[in-house]
Amino acid sequence: MTGFALHIDWTRCDGRGLCAEILDRALTRDDWGYPVSLRGEEGSRSDVPLRADEFDAAADAVALCPVLALSRVAR
Ligand code: SF4
Repeated sequence: MTGFALHIDWTRCDGRGLCAEILDRALTRDDWGYPVSLRGEEGSRSDVPLRADEFDAAADAVALCPVLALSRVAR
């Protein structure tokens, strides 16, 4: 285990884009508003690696996602 990642549950996400606004160094949005990792080479479409200084923002994103599609997982 080397740190934490933001896990996106694609069965829930409806592409409202709030997480990409909160974590704008880790995520961007595709043409339909769905989050896309800016760290694709490190993680996966579903697990976006987090830097230590993003943990608080990630906690905010998890709490604020309107469809509860986000969680923080060890990686
Ligand atoms: S905040 Fe939640 S619903 Fe909105 S794009 Fe992110 S994961 Fe999807």
